[in-house]
Amino acid sequence: MTERDTTRGLVYAAENQWSAALDRGGVIDFFGSRLTLPKQEYFETVESMQHFCDGVLAAERITASFPGAGMVLVRARAGHTKAHYECESKTIAVPLSGSAGVPGWACCEAVLLHELTHHLLFVSADPAASAQAYHGGRFTTTMCWLVSGVLGPESALVLQGAYQGVGVIVDAYVN
Ligand SMILES: [Zn+2]
Repeated sequence: MTERDTTRGLVYAAENQWSAALDRGGVIDFFGSRLTLPKQEYFETVESMQHFCDGVLAAERITASFPGAGMVLVRARAGHTKAHYECESKTIAVPLSGSAGVPGWACCEAVLLHELTHHLLFVSADPAASAQAYHGGRFTTTMCWLVSGVLGPESALVLQGAYQGVGVIVDAYVN
């Protein structure tokens, strides 16, 4: 998004790896510890993605930490490239692109949580948060925090490990 957004490619790489682990779900070996990952959900319709995002943003944990979060709108976008967040309209645009009955690759919890993290940082009352590079340390830390609350601390731990594996900064966060 900006010239300073130097870690975007690394963040995507880490999240792709993490998302693939969530596609499989189940017990994994994580640096010698056994962790159980939930199998992430895929959505077939805009309505079901909207419902997921509404539920995430309505959680008390979110409204307490990001009182201005409000709601996001989910809409379909053409093509099958990336999902993205539109700041001005507070909209998450997701390529559906799946064939009949098969959801597109982006219609999953991992992608929606990424875009919801952009939303939370954009609406944050802390101006430093939105002024940060788009996929910088504030992003990865908030993403881990969000994932911990929605998918559980094991999923957040694996995401944190994936970020660190590609050399991206993640600060401490409280579950
Ligand atoms: Zn992003």
